[in-house]
Amino acid sequence: MSPTNALPGLQDLTTPALLLDLDRVERNCARMRARATILGVALRPHLKTAKSSEIGRLASGGVLGPITASTLAEVEYFAAHGYRDITYAVGIAPQKLYALAAIQERFGASVSLIVDELYTVREIATIAEALQQSFRVFVEIDSGGGRGGVVPEDPELLDITAAIVESPRLGLAGVLTHAGHSYGAADRKEMVAIAEAEREAATRAAARLRSAGFTVPFVSVGSTPTILSAESLEGVTDVRPGVYMLFDLDQAALGVCSLDDIAASVLTTVIGHNPRSQRILIDAGGLALSKDLSAFKRDPHVGYGLVCPPNGVGPISGLRVAEVYQEHGMIAVENGFEFATERYPVGTQLRILPNHVCMTAAAFDRYHLVRGDSQRIIGTWDKIGGWTAGREARA
Ligand code: PLP
Repeated sequence: MSPTNALPGLQDLTTPALLLDLDRVERNCARMRARATILGVALRPHLKTAKSSEIGRLASGGVLGPITASTLAEVEYFAAHGYRDITYAVGIAPQKLYALAAIQERFGASVSLIVDELYTVREIATIAEALQQSFRVFVEIDSGGGRGGVVPEDPELLDITAAIVESPRLGLAGVLTHAGHSYGAADRKEMVAIAEAEREAATRAAARLRSAGFTVPFVSVGSTPTILSAESLEGVTDVRPGVYMLFDLDQAALGVCSLDDIAASVLTTVIGHNPRSQRILIDAGGLALSKDLSAFKRDPHVGYGLVCPPNGVGPISGLRVAEVYQEHGMIAVENGFEFATERYPVGTQLRILPNHVCMTAAAFDRYHLVRGDSQRIIGTWDKIGGWTAGREARA
């Protein structure tokens, strides 16, 4: 038996299981590094999707570079894995400072926060002072998404910034924005326009602060679609795309990747056939795939996921996950249900390409690694989930 044959195979896994094609994730990470170089900006990859130290290392070209995270659990996990420069890019709730201070102290990491209200700055300044801990703070800018942030011309931009600078325990990191509405772009032209609006809002806010006398070290923008569409990022210092490491059907529908770039898929097993509903039943339902409708809304033929054979070569035309329940998925067969029943008997493994991989991957605690069309598992990578800090083993 050769060493390769001694590796476990997909058949050895309990399904549903999350697979990661290393060829694809390496290629996606190299593509974004090259893109950042062309655009003349630093890459601060957002690890909210991958939630894995090993993928973070790939994203930064083999080193533990500056990263972005979205939960206390992620901040702690990445700090425990040696990452030292972490932007926690979800508006900070002041009470989270206690956990973040403990992480900074314990791991020697530096955590940057984001704020968009004067009240928050005052609260975190007080807590940071009481804890005798310093934090760098970004002011979040709304570049059109209407989620977090102040608009560049808002008078509060100056007040928030002044309050950061006046606090002995806070330092101004700069301005940060995320054009999440890029996901609603109808076509490439609109995507390019949203990327430019994202850049323009961030640099305009930075210019306003600079002309008021503030030093603005970082101007941070980014979503995967805008970074892959931007024609210029003049004035921007760093970008924070995240979903590109894995990609998904929604990104493919947006035209920023192809189906062959999708690196994460869910391995599932056929558990039955229902001739009345003409569905093949699988053991990957809403919890394993998510009920995200992003790509589904763009293209009903996508359903809750496209179906590939276990070697990942596909998708198989005419098959899609049409309905999901907690643990059941239902595959619709466009033509020839009887044929599909024979072709995919109970016990058959299939791979599902996810609609929105941020939602799908979050349900799993590890990646099983494969390369190309091989069905051998060449390793396992852990990943973090949930929200709470305090789970990393006490040193
Ligand atoms: N920055 C922030 C603040 C975000 O919320 C997100 C995603 O939600 C990103 C960056 C990464 O964008 P994407 O998921 O398009 O890669």
